[in-house]
Amino acid sequence: MTAYPITDHTFDVVVVGAGGAGLRATLECARLGLKTACVTKVFPTRSHTVAAQGGVAAALGNMGEDDWRWHMYDTVKGSDWLGDQDAIEYLCRNAPEAVYELEHFGVPFSRTEEGKIYQRAFGGMTSHFGKGIAQRTCAAADRTGHAMLHTLYGQCVKHEVNFFVEYFALDLITDDEGVRGLMAWKLDDGTIHRFRAHKVILATGGYGRIYFTCTGGHTQTGDGNAMVLRAGLPLQDMEFVQFHPTGVYGVGVLITEGVRGEGGYLTNSEGERFMERYAPNAKDLASRDVVSRAITVEIREGRGVGSLSDHANLHLSHLDPKIIHERLPGIAESARIFAGVDVTKDPIPVLPTVHYNMGGIPTNYMGEAVTLHEGNPDAVIPGLMAVGEAACVSVHGANRLGSNSLIDLVVFGKAAGAQAAKVIGENKKHADLPKGAGEQALARLDRLRNANGTTPTAEMRLAMQRAMQEDAAVFRTGEVLAQGQKRIAEIYGRRDELKVSDRTLIWNTDLVETLEYENLIAQAAVTINSALNRTESRGAHAREDYPERDDKNWMKHTLSWLNNETGDVRLDYRPVHSYTLSNDVEYIPPKKRVY
Ligand SMILES: Cc1cc2nc3c(=O)[nH]c(=O)nc-3n(C[C@H](O)[C@H](O)[C@H](O)COP(=O)(O)OP(=O)(O)OC[C@H]3O[C@@H](n4cnc5c(N)ncnc54)[C@H](O)[C@@H]3O)c2cc1C
Repeated sequence: MTAYPITDHTFDVVVVGAGGAGLRATLECARLGLKTACVTKVFPTRSHTVAAQGGVAAALGNMGEDDWRWHMYDTVKGSDWLGDQDAIEYLCRNAPEAVYELEHFGVPFSRTEEGKIYQRAFGGMTSHFGKGIAQRTCAAADRTGHAMLHTLYGQCVKHEVNFFVEYFALDLITDDEGVRGLMAWKLDDGTIHRFRAHKVILATGGYGRIYFTCTGGHTQTGDGNAMVLRAGLPLQDMEFVQFHPTGVYGVGVLITEGVRGEGGYLTNSEGERFMERYAPNAKDLASRDVVSRAITVEIREGRGVGSLSDHANLHLSHLDPKIIHERLPGIAESARIFAGVDVTKDPIPVLPTVHYNMGGIPTNYMGEAVTLHEGNPDAVIPGLMAVGEAACVSVHGANRLGSNSLIDLVVFGKAAGAQAAKVIGENKKHADLPKGAGEQALARLDRLRNANGTTPTAEMRLAMQRAMQEDAAVFRTGEVLAQGQKRIAEIYGRRDELKVSDRTLIWNTDLVETLEYENLIAQAAVTINSALNRTESRGAHAREDYPERDDKNWMKHTLSWLNNETGDVRLDYRPVHSYTLSNDVEYIPPKKRVY
């Protein structure tokens, strides 16, 4: 192996990721006096959070009555009873404060006539425990994520955070006691950096790019999740992949649920508003899994629109152009650019598209990573924390409600910072790193940099994405999943065939994509194995061969470990936390789906 000179750094906390979750965690650590680094492969304000449109959920009650308990009820139900209720309670109780905090940081929220934060209706968000529709989603037009990310970045700069921008995190540094730090490669000058830290907080986002079409950026490769797998630790609930019902047909670009929140609706080839049949109460605002399945069924039964009868139409031309201009300007622009549609006249062609990963690094509600250890399902992994889409805390369970991710980022980002400060305490002395710390990460980098096989990375990645798209889609069966499992195993086994053409270390996008590909294929393996194993339908995981939810056998989280050499997956389980924090509210799952 070529010698790679290493630059060493020591921090109290290293946060990996500068999306909403990473920045909120970084800010809290910095505010609490911890020496904090934020390592990010893209410039902070380019993180995927910037693309979030619809809004951030909190029971403020600005546009009608609301209560955090109703938000909690909706989230437990939306999760199809796989969410951890202590974490959900923590989320919903703390949501209003987190939004006011964002307001005070400077997020330019849209306003009501009286000057309060504007809130719109979103799928699955109800009042009075499911009886009415709540307007709970706080919005800055249709660019809420953009507003949040830029504001949080500004706050971090104000608190003099140490940013390591365009550094690609390679792997965790671990020893018998837990996680001790991180290895990273600086993309613009090729130098290697070793970070020693009391806590590493992974906030690396989702891994939508294991699929062929997804609403997420090309950077959504779940690098943190893969680092956890390589460290011999498990991921949780990876079978639960959310399809957003309204990606632009053929492109995947998102059309926010906020469109339906403002009164938009879906039709099939007969011009029928078909959601009225599938969800007579919530109609177009039923939760995402319900709407995605409904569109898929319409297409399958021959009522898709277009010459290939393979998508649905989303109408908003009946809305006042002033509302579109004020509240959905970005959507009008995306529809024009990506579908050639003037939304004031014509419908937008849409199709369910991969959107969000409910699964990720298992954590408790303080952001500490946990694992199953000697019979303890909540054993904390020293030194490791996770927040945001990379984490599985798990407030979204089997299905995330729209606008519940942005609030998850800021509530748990803050909680993780506070917990890090508490655990690190006054004693900030660092132990020495283990001998040879980071060597494995460098060996891997070197192997891939010199990969001289026959298949370019892009080709291998495409094979994986097609397999996942075809075999782990909105509807699943054992037979198709088993076929997908075989395909992914075969592709995994061909890692030695990878061919990287660029051997430099400076702006080597070929090597970056290859590192990301290795991360993706690891997650594809655990996703498809977990999906094949779960023989029930719950939330986003819809098995045609097991159409019922099976609480007796399956109200539990899947844990998945990967043998990184062979690609074999081992599975085990953690119980769902069906207790709350305060114990003053009880939720009992009904026998049947109620929507
Ligand atoms: C188009 C779109 C619209 C959405 N709209 C909404 C909405 O309206 N409301 C809502 O609640 N949710 C929405 N979501 C979901 C929500 O935006 C995301 O779940 C959330 O923003 C994820 O934030 P994050 O901080 O976890 O990760 P991200 O914002 O994805 O950030 C990941 C960070 O990790 C860094 N990183 C990753 N790998 C590495 C590495 N190897 N080395 C160094 N750094 C690394 C990246 O540089 C980046 O800074 C939307 C999602 C999409 C895709």
